[in-house]
Amino acid sequence: MAEKLITIKEVNLNNNCPECYSKSGLQLTFKQKFKETNLYKSITNETAQEIECKTCNTIIYPVMWTDDIERVFNYQQKAFTPKKQSIKLKKKAWLLIAVLGILIVTGILVVFNYK
Ligand SMILES: [Zn+2]
Repeated sequence: MAEKLITIKEVNLNNNCPECYSKSGLQLTFKQKFKETNLYKSITNETAQEIECKTCNTIIYPVMWTDDIERVFNYQQKAFTPKKQSIKLKKKAWLLIAVLGILIVTGILVVFNYK
């Protein structure tokens, strides 16, 4: 099973970077976890956020956030709508379901014929 965090939204922040003090480098990224197996692909409701400074290439962890960054983050998080949780079955899964369906129907027919 493969799990992937896929970027859903990127927001450039106007805050100063706590590391290099650049005012143009901070970027907030919203990611969502996708799963893929042999039988299905799904979008989970698990999300992750990250702030990175593009100027000094540092990941700004929450412990380093200033009050301003936190405020902007909270605001952006409220504005962010994750993709709806969903499951998409692959062909193989549909085939399995079809085969199972046929087996069940056959089973029922056999049982009724014996009575
Ligand atoms: Zn920086």
